[in-house]
Amino acid sequence: MEFHSFLIKYGEIGIKGKNRYLFEDALVRQIRFALKDVDGSFYVHKAQGRVYVDCEGAYDYEETVESLKRVFGIVGICPVVRLEDQGFEQLKKDVAAYIDDVYENKNFSFKVEARRSRKQYPMTSMEMNCSLGEVILDTFPETRVDVHHPDVRLNVEVREEIYLYSDIIPGPGGMPVGTNGSAMLLLSGGIDSPVAGYMVSKRGVELEATYFHAPPYTSERAKEKVVELARLVSRYAGPIKLHVVSFTDIQLYIYEQCPHEELTIIMRRYMMRIAEAFAKKDGCLGLITGESIGQVASQTMQSLLATNAVCTLPVYRPLIGFDKKEIVEISEKIDTYETSIQPFEDCCTIFVAKHPVTKPNLEWIERSELKLAEKIDELVQTAIDTVEIIEVK
Ligand code: ATP
Ligand code: MG
Repeated sequence: MEFHSFLIKYGEIGIKGKNRYLFEDALVRQIRFALKDVDGSFYVHKAQGRVYVDCEGAYDYEETVESLKRVFGIVGICPVVRLEDQGFEQLKKDVAAYIDDVYENKNFSFKVEARRSRKQYPMTSMEMNCSLGEVILDTFPETRVDVHHPDVRLNVEVREEIYLYSDIIPGPGGMPVGTNGSAMLLLSGGIDSPVAGYMVSKRGVELEATYFHAPPYTSERAKEKVVELARLVSRYAGPIKLHVVSFTDIQLYIYEQCPHEELTIIMRRYMMRIAEAFAKKDGCLGLITGESIGQVASQTMQSLLATNAVCTLPVYRPLIGFDKKEIVEISEKIDTYETSIQPFEDCCTIFVAKHPVTKPNLEWIERSELKLAEKIDELVQTAIDTVEIIEVK
C-alpha cells in the first residue's frame, strides 16, 4: 500500500493551553530537521490542530518512519492513504482494498471511526461507520466488530480529500527540542554522557556540548569519536555546538602540583568550571553529565559533592540512579553504544592515580587547589580562548 501522508500524534504538548502553538511550531521544525536528509520531498504543516507530513512523490518509507521515530514530542506516527472523493460507492471499494493490503491476517476485531470536517458530505459519520463496517465484514468474513476494544481502529476522515489510516507506529515521546531552553553537556567518548544528553534533550532541551581533549595523550581519533557521538545524539537533539577544549596543560599542571590521588577530582572540578563558562556565555540554563552514584571513585556521593561545589548553574545528572546495564540498554537503543566502546584513550584515564580518593574532603581539595594559584587562571583563560567550535548537524 502506498501512503501519502503521516498524521503525527503528540501527547503532552497537546495540553499546554495558550502555549500550544509554540510546541507545535517546535515539533514542525524538528520534524523538518529530521527529514532533511531523507530521500523524498516532504511538506510538514499544521492543519485543524494536527501536524501532518505530506509526502510529495516517491519517498523512502522505512527511512521516513525511522527518522520520525527520533523526533521528541511524537507519541504516534499514523501512515495515511489519501484518496480523492469519488463518491461513497468508490470509498467502499477503497476501504476494502486498504484492509486487504495493510492486513495480511484478517483475523482481527475492528471498529470504523468516521469523521467529517466537510459537513456537507451526504452521509453522517454514524451512517458511514455502519456501512463501511458492513463492507469489511462482508468482504473479509474472518473479521469481527468490537466497538469497545478493537484490534484495529479504521479512521476515515472526510476533508477536501478522504484520509484512511489505522496503524499507529509508536514515537519516542518527550517534548519537542527547543521548548525548554538549552543546556551544556559534558561529552566524553564513553557510554554514559551521550545517553545523559539524549535523556535531557528528550524533555525538549536544546544541547550544546564540551569535550576535554588532551593531545598528544589523547589522539585525533579519540576526538573524532566524540564528534561522531555528538552527531549520533544530534539525530535526536538537533544541531549541537560542540566545544573542543585543549586540556593538556591544565592536566599537566595539576599533575605537577597536587597529590596524585586527588587528581581526578581536581580535574573534574576544572572541567565543570570551564564548561560552565561556555554555558553562561551562550545562555545555557544548566550543565549535564553522565554521572551515576558510585560507578567509579569520582562518582561517590563525596566526590559528587566536591565536583558540584564549583558550579553555580544546576547540574543535571539524568543517569544518577541507573546501573551500568540500564545505561547500556539505552545506548544500544539510541545507537551510540557501538561508537562509545571503540577503544580510544580518555583524558581522564591517562593521568589517573592507582588509588584515587573515594571520599574526598572538600576542604582538603580546596587547599590542594591553592597550590595551583600561580598559573591556573591563565591556563584556564587560554583553554577558553583557544577552544575549537564544531557545529555538529
Ligand atoms: P562516560 O561514559 O560518560 O565517559 P564515565 O563513566 O567514564 O562516563 P567519568 O569519566 O567519571 O565517567 O566521567 C563522568 C562524567 O564527566 C562523564 O559522564 C562526562 O559527563 C564528564 N566527562 C568525563 N570526561 C570528560 C571529557 N574528557 N570531556 C567532557 N566531559 C567529560
Ligand atoms: Mg569517561
